Amino acid sequence: MTRLLTLLAIGYFVWQFVKNYLNKQEIRQKRQSENNRQSPLAMVQCQYCRVHLPENEAVAAGNNWFCGSEHKALWLKSQQG
Ligand SMILES: [Zn+2]
Repeated sequence: MTRLLTLLAIGYFVWQFVKNYLNKQEIRQKRQSENNRQSPLAMVQCQYCRVHLPENEAVAAGNNWFCGSEHKALWLKSQQG
């Protein structure tokens, strides 16, 4: 009888653990998809100083990205010769 109770207790704890684990997974997935919706920002790289920054903070010149208009100007200058 004691053995049966022990088995039931173990089964209960395992079930609780699995339930908790699945809940956490679900919450994490939900949070991740929310994050993706809120900030679908691509990271781009400054052609001049190679720093990475989000697209909305970068300055574009054709297919090239820069961390600021200063580096854009400097890079364009260096491309000219
Ligand atoms: Zn830069």
